[in-house]
Amino acid sequence: MDINELLKGLHCTCGKHHRCDIQHVVIERDAISSLRKLAEAYHSVLIVADENTFAAAGNKTLAAIAGKHFRSIIFPGNPILIPNEAAIAQITQELTDIDLIIGIGSGVIQDLCKYVSFYHNIPYFIVATAPSMDGYASTGAAMILDGMKVTVSAKVPAAIIADTEVLKQAPMDMIQAGYGDIVGKYSALNDWKLSHIVNGEYFCQYIYDLTFEMLQKTLNLADGLLKREEESVKVLMEALTVVGIAMSFAGSSRPASGSEHHLSHYFEITGIVHGEEYFPHGIDVAYSTVLTAALREQLLNQPWPETQYRPTKDAYLAELSRIYGPVAISCAALQEKVGLYKKDMLSVYKEKAHEILTVLSEMPSANEIEAMLNAAGLHMQEFNKLYSEKKITDGIAYAKELKDRYTVLWMYYDILGHKL
Ligand SMILES: [Zn+2]
Ligand SMILES: [Zn+2]
Repeated sequence: MDINELLKGLHCTCGKHHRCDIQHVVIERDAISSLRKLAEAYHSVLIVADENTFAAAGNKTLAAIAGKHFRSIIFPGNPILIPNEAAIAQITQELTDIDLIIGIGSGVIQDLCKYVSFYHNIPYFIVATAPSMDGYASTGAAMILDGMKVTVSAKVPAAIIADTEVLKQAPMDMIQAGYGDIVGKYSALNDWKLSHIVNGEYFCQYIYDLTFEMLQKTLNLADGLLKREEESVKVLMEALTVVGIAMSFAGSSRPASGSEHHLSHYFEITGIVHGEEYFPHGIDVAYSTVLTAALREQLLNQPWPETQYRPTKDAYLAELSRIYGPVAISCAALQEKVGLYKKDMLSVYKEKAHEILTVLSEMPSANEIEAMLNAAGLHMQEFNKLYSEKKITDGIAYAKELKDRYTVLWMYYDILGHKL
């Protein structure tokens, strides 16, 4: 896969011109030394990292920008940094005279840099420290604002620098998370097709195929990743980057984020609200993909009722408030705007049943997904140990409240919600 070729974009048969504004992607051994040249035109650099990511790649990065004026913000390594208003303010304070932000890190650091870079119109480079998620190349910044998990449209980094010697030393759960984030594309892609049928949502076969190709490549890596083989880590990072580019091409995270991501966001948000533990993003995505595969199997195998499931408004609001606490009001307001609760979805499903069942049956079974996860050392027992059955059922019913995006969680709720 020639990523720099892909960055040139293309006119697509779907009618869109697919483009991505990233200028450079360097994924190789000693990639960080390429910063010397890539940052040549900039004079004053703000380094953003946390203690752990700085320990992983800070010195190499500083060596590569030696001679430049720079300031740095190093967040504590513990507790987990949350990409919220406080963290944004801390970075924003340091921006005077800065003409380049260099983030050193993965998920949260890159979301924060992406957000601040966009709002202050200062380019940023990301020095990746873990192949842990697909957000490096996407325009969306996953933030927690007002307590809500929101994806803010921001912009892509000007450069992604991924040094395979650094990546292979990442904590194993971060590497597994990257693998899991990619396995989740089975579910995300299936949801995309489903919404295309049910809601007539935009769909692009080229982007679908590109994402699917990365998925297939990644499945072969499990063993090498567990052994920290540099080549496997490199291919995983490439897959994560290409999927990010696919999101830029689509103009949204749709190809890469569906019901499995809504569930992972649910575990994260309810974890923050109730002070409960949750897994790294990609690992929650991976386990949630087993759940959403099982939902599709049930939709395929169980009879559909005559009426769609709808609780009373009071019962619904009480459930949201129990699950989401202070965030319940914004969830309810979002769904009021989306309007799916007021629609007769069952008629649409019955009318398009044949196409819907075909798409649902394209998804691997829950057992098959579980085997893919086992290969990378991820076991469902861990998931069932951390989250109670009730918490998982609540997520299946109400993770959809966090987003304005249609997925199989909606279909399951409409058709089999009375079972939850
Ligand atoms: Zn297209
Ligand atoms: Zn993800």
